[in-house]
Amino acid sequence: MLNTKTITDLKEGYSKGDFTPADVVKTLDKSIEEKDGEINAFISRDTEQALEAASKADTSLPLGGVPIAIKDNINVIGEPCTCASQFLKGAYKAPYNATIINKLLAAGAIPFGRANLDEFAMGSSTENSSFHKTKNPHDLSRIPGGSSGGSAACVGGDLAIAALGSDTGGSIRQPASHCGVVGFKPSYGRVSRYGLVAFASSLDQIGPLTKSVTDAALLTNVLAGHDPMDSTSLKIETPDFTQGINDGVAGKKIGVPKEYMDGDLHPAVKEAVQSAIKALEKEGAEIVEVSLPHTKYCVPTYYILAPAEASSNLSRFDGVRYGNRSTDVTDVLSMYENSREEGFGSEVKRRILLGTYVLSSGYYDAYYIKAQKVRTLIMQDFTKVFQVVDAIIAPVSPDPARKIGENDGDPLKEYLADIFTIAANLAGIPAISVPCGTASVDGKELPIGLQVLGPYLEDQTVFQVARAWEALYQD
Ligand code: GLN
Repeated sequence: MLNTKTITDLKEGYSKGDFTPADVVKTLDKSIEEKDGEINAFISRDTEQALEAASKADTSLPLGGVPIAIKDNINVIGEPCTCASQFLKGAYKAPYNATIINKLLAAGAIPFGRANLDEFAMGSSTENSSFHKTKNPHDLSRIPGGSSGGSAACVGGDLAIAALGSDTGGSIRQPASHCGVVGFKPSYGRVSRYGLVAFASSLDQIGPLTKSVTDAALLTNVLAGHDPMDSTSLKIETPDFTQGINDGVAGKKIGVPKEYMDGDLHPAVKEAVQSAIKALEKEGAEIVEVSLPHTKYCVPTYYILAPAEASSNLSRFDGVRYGNRSTDVTDVLSMYENSREEGFGSEVKRRILLGTYVLSSGYYDAYYIKAQKVRTLIMQDFTKVFQVVDAIIAPVSPDPARKIGENDGDPLKEYLADIFTIAANLAGIPAISVPCGTASVDGKELPIGLQVLGPYLEDQTVFQVARAWEALYQD
């Protein structure tokens, strides 16, 4: 079936003339028709447009004729970009392409399908979408993770070949882990954020969700690179991320953080990560126990800084410049108030309130500045460890995908489960989730991800270690 293929498979099939990009789009469309009624990974799609692009695709290009699903917080010119929010529903069409969309198009890719997400990317379950809840393709009673839950579910459910997501505190890696796919967050500054609707600008990165580590590297080759439209994008050469990807781990030093493995881990997650550690050791990696002593401060630090930045970024949604305006308006203040009251869902409001609080005078020093200082300590934890090891391996999520609705009314419990993914964003370092086993729960096999983290800008090392594990796992 063409919908189960990787990017690498498509490239080979196109070059041999086995099938065409239009065949792939049609097969994906059919499987979306058949399965997305239940999975609900997509917010929208334009099959006609994708078929038109497929008919003209130049398959000699790096991603020629490869359909890619796009998280619905990335601007594609002329298309709605809803961020799964009532604020933007039916009221906004992108007037420009995100830089990464221009890069995808120049590489011959076909954007196909807009993937569901937690509203404005705030969440870890995709339950915060104001449109519909996406379900885990491995068990429809469970969450796909989030916030890029639609992107992970469409790749994991074979409704897409690959997808783009955004990762502010784990939003690519955690859903990838829950849906049994690969999800990569590049080093901060590698990939332009221009045209990504900002959540927390110092943490956000766009990245790929794919069916293989090599596919993630291939997509990152296209996404990465300096963009004058994003002042945080780095002016550095983009290496070929596939280079050395099959070189294995012999002689590599790999750290395992004791704070992660000693924590509250589901037994199946612990076992899967430990068996990956053993297998990599057998391949010649040197495994070293390391310490990231500020781990326990990651969640509180993130949940001060991310809402602070979000409260500022989301101030642009005022009913004047973007999106829906309330009709219940008597004066300018009630226009702002009622538009925001009606437009935002409860999790987004909670983040805005939290963020406004920690930035307000009197609390700014106690919370925001303090959290910035702790962020530096968290970064330094990694700098120290990476003086000794080449990469770190860790769990992605403490538990396999939970039931839909299980954490309703308990945001703290939900936030605490972000413990293993947040640090990479606070430190700006690259990290990937790669499938590493399953947990048998209620008669279903729920995917578990292994996280590989590398030093800042050592994205290639992350791919290499992840690929080494993937090769062992697939055998
Ligand atoms: N779960 C985290 C949050 O809700 C991360 C979200 C993300 O990476 N976009 O903030």
